[in-house]
Amino acid sequence: MTLDEAKTALAALQKSLHAYTHAAGLLYYDGVTGGPSGGARERGETFAFLSGELYKLSTGVQAGELLDFLDENKQELTQAEARQTELMRKQLRELRKIPMDEYVAYQQLCSESSAVWHSAKSKNDWLMWQPYLEKIVAALRRFASLVEPDKDPYDYCLDQYEEGLTQQTCDSFFAVLKEKIVPLIGRVKEAGQVPYDFLAAEVPTAKQEELSRWLMSLIGMDPAYSTIATTEHPFTTSFSKHDVRITTHYYEHDFTASMFSVIHEGGHALYELHIGDELQGTVLAEGCSMAIHESQSRFYENILGRSRAFISFIYPKLAQISPAIAAHTPEEVYKAINRAEPSLIRTEADELTYCLHIMVRYELEKTLMHGELEVKDLPARWDTLYKEYLGVDVPDDRHGVLQDSHWSDGGIGYFPSYALGSAYGAQLIGRMKRDVDVERCLASGEFAPINAWETEHIWKYGRLYKPGELLQKALGESFDPTYYTNYLEKKFSEIYGL
Ligand code: ZN
Repeated sequence: MTLDEAKTALAALQKSLHAYTHAAGLLYYDGVTGGPSGGARERGETFAFLSGELYKLSTGVQAGELLDFLDENKQELTQAEARQTELMRKQLRELRKIPMDEYVAYQQLCSESSAVWHSAKSKNDWLMWQPYLEKIVAALRRFASLVEPDKDPYDYCLDQYEEGLTQQTCDSFFAVLKEKIVPLIGRVKEAGQVPYDFLAAEVPTAKQEELSRWLMSLIGMDPAYSTIATTEHPFTTSFSKHDVRITTHYYEHDFTASMFSVIHEGGHALYELHIGDELQGTVLAEGCSMAIHESQSRFYENILGRSRAFISFIYPKLAQISPAIAAHTPEEVYKAINRAEPSLIRTEADELTYCLHIMVRYELEKTLMHGELEVKDLPARWDTLYKEYLGVDVPDDRHGVLQDSHWSDGGIGYFPSYALGSAYGAQLIGRMKRDVDVERCLASGEFAPINAWETEHIWKYGRLYKPGELLQKALGESFDPTYYTNYLEKKFSEIYGL
């Protein structure tokens, strides 16, 4: 094989992988956005078949020989080809250690579990889903022992979402947050709550749908390449930069829940919509890592979306859809939207207490993966930790352990990304402000300069760099969580007059 032939084969292999991933992704999307529940089993079977083909293609002898050959000729490859080879070889090495039948059975398990979780949550029936989660935890513990026998099983999970992330890093990161945020929450509590009841005034779904479309266009999502649907749990999925889909969930008595979901998922979508053209159809055409992805979504949702300047800008639009908003000043709306209060549901949590929700999940995932906590004891442990960290009583599993979809499809190890992403964002804004007048942009609803900065420093690169490298390159310095704790301190001290 000549080097040119190998390069052509590398591109062709990625094209085939992309086709299977595209089809499997559409199947999943269809299942959660309206595909009949009775078809879940067959969708699961087709999904498993596609996963099997994907497994064969990425771990086959041909792929192995090709990637080894390219790796031996690294110095002749472009930066993108070298990174593609590196990522695909890592995946091949890991997948080959898991027997194909187990891998396929696991994919099918996740697909079925996801459907069962959905109805377990709506029926508030933990026992219905418990056996699925038991199998998922057992499978992940087994995969960890096969792929990285010398590594801690939870570190194996973390690395799946954030290349190189370990419990050691998480432990020290969460320790900083705990030290700074817990006393701040205490001071906020003592200061007394700002009025926010008016946010619960009814806003019909049709008006909220109109608001979603308006927001998507405002932040710069091109309707030719992006859509919105409704699901139990909002998410973003991307098939290429020309087909990015977000979802939301409407509550008639809590319109800001969907509003901020749309801005959050919009942040994920903008990232995918702006990945470099030259990376399309390759394994590099996706976000760098989950924490970098969350750094974008949570940046749009909180740092931009919940800022005073942005709330003032969208105030007339909100006043139009809600007479209760019109009866209050923009400043009152800003404070109500940013009220901080320990609560039960992570996705509805405010910016300040949010990380405590993540710390609870981090503790639980860690002990589950270490075999120190059994799945059957998870709900009780969940409730205890919510009391300990947030001081709230969990009334039932729907508002407790069943609330998030992540574990239902095997996403153990994902949650720390949200907290890390939030912290990355607080450091990024400082760097961005040196080049862009962010306040003026937000006050005038002009997202183009902000999006252009993001494209230039983060989005266009896709997975070309490792997360740590990309961050260092964009920030010009190492990651430092005190930017985040300082940001929270300043914002909430000001809102609550501390
Ligand atoms: Zn997200």
